[in-house]
Amino acid sequence: MNKNKVIRSQQLRFMVYTLIAFTMLFGIFGTIIFGQIKATLYAKTDSDLLASKRMLESGGAAVEGGNEPFPDKYGFIPRSKGRWPLTPRVIPLLWSDGKIANAQQIGFIVYNHYFSDMTFNPSTIGVISNVTVQGKYHFRTVSIPYPEADGAYVQLLINVDSEQNLIDNFRRIIILCSAVFIFLSISASYILSRKMMKPIIRSWEKQVEFVENASHELRTPLTIIQNKLELLQTMPEKRIIDTFENIALSLSETRRLSRMTSDLLTLARADSTETQLEKQTIELDEFVDKVCSPYKEIAELSEKRMWLSLNSGTRLNADPGRLHQLLVILLDNALKYTGEHDSIGISTYVKENKTFIEVSDTGIGISEEGLSRIFDRFYREDRARSREQGGSGLGLSIAQWIVHSHHGTIQALHNEPKGVIFRIRLPKQ
Ligand code: ADP
Repeated sequence: MNKNKVIRSQQLRFMVYTLIAFTMLFGIFGTIIFGQIKATLYAKTDSDLLASKRMLESGGAAVEGGNEPFPDKYGFIPRSKGRWPLTPRVIPLLWSDGKIANAQQIGFIVYNHYFSDMTFNPSTIGVISNVTVQGKYHFRTVSIPYPEADGAYVQLLINVDSEQNLIDNFRRIIILCSAVFIFLSISASYILSRKMMKPIIRSWEKQVEFVENASHELRTPLTIIQNKLELLQTMPEKRIIDTFENIALSLSETRRLSRMTSDLLTLARADSTETQLEKQTIELDEFVDKVCSPYKEIAELSEKRMWLSLNSGTRLNADPGRLHQLLVILLDNALKYTGEHDSIGISTYVKENKTFIEVSDTGIGISEEGLSRIFDRFYREDRARSREQGGSGLGLSIAQWIVHSHHGTIQALHNEPKGVIFRIRLPKQ
């Protein structure tokens, strides 16, 4: 699939997921707050209604001064005896044969203006619910059977217009906030998805570049081998000794190929974090001395001086195989990029609770640009020279991965008056 298409569809997916997450969070938050406010606003009303209902069911005796049976069997409201036992908020309606039988008691003005068109809703029996009168007056209500007459009910109502007003306002605010929030979350999701995609795009591009470079690097030795073999094929009568040069070259390119494929494999495994380190406790100075000793002989053979200054006196918890590979990469390079009478130094020391390993040389050195790119895969200062030396530009990338996997850092610096220093800093055990 086209790269841009993949990126765009992935970004869209991220955006949709983030938007859904934001909307769900806000939705849950809004619903909880709305529910809580509604419940709190109705709580006092409902408790008044329930208290009145309980009192009516117990015949009014539970109320202080309410020792008269209530409601009495002559009329709904006791007029002269006892106290009016309901809170002033509660309006009691007595329903009999589908009509309000106590219009007089509740007052004709109230009855005519508010309740004359009302019908009894049996679903309010025993259950507190909302009722809207004349389309604009809101009440909380509950009904109970009237004990004095069959088929009659007492409906208790409390006006909740101000509470309803608050709830309506709050609902409006929530809807408005949701619209603003959805707009904001679309923008935030877009920005976040772009941010999330950036490292993915970068690693995608790196991967593509890596594959391109790798195939290019592999093609060169393969072409040489193919050419040499084709040439050999044209002269079957020749003796091996006569074509020795071609065979030697093919062999050296084959070795190069094999080294490169194993380097590529190491890096591919490093990328997939498949490689496990097998850490052990290592006496660092002793270990470095052992790795360097064959290189000392090689250096002497090519008229170079190699000096060691191993003063760390510390132990490291590291993978000995990988640490060996790291030192070999740096020592190989030091030998490759130095000339006769140059010197190569290896030192270990401890500073500020960190263990340092340094490999320095007085060789050809690295340019300013090279210092920042030296650890990039396939980067070589002088392609021709490096190729001549059998280099592929992968060694330092592997070195960097080894150091990083040991939680350390590696740095390339100019050496004075010439050459390079590779400084490795590792956490102390
Ligand atoms: P190569 O296999 O080409 O040596 P490396 O990754 O080990 O690959 O090194 C990358 C490049 O860094 C080399 O091609 C070379 O240009 C430069 N380099 C590495 N070590 C040294 C050094 N000690 N002195 C000068 N240049 C170096």
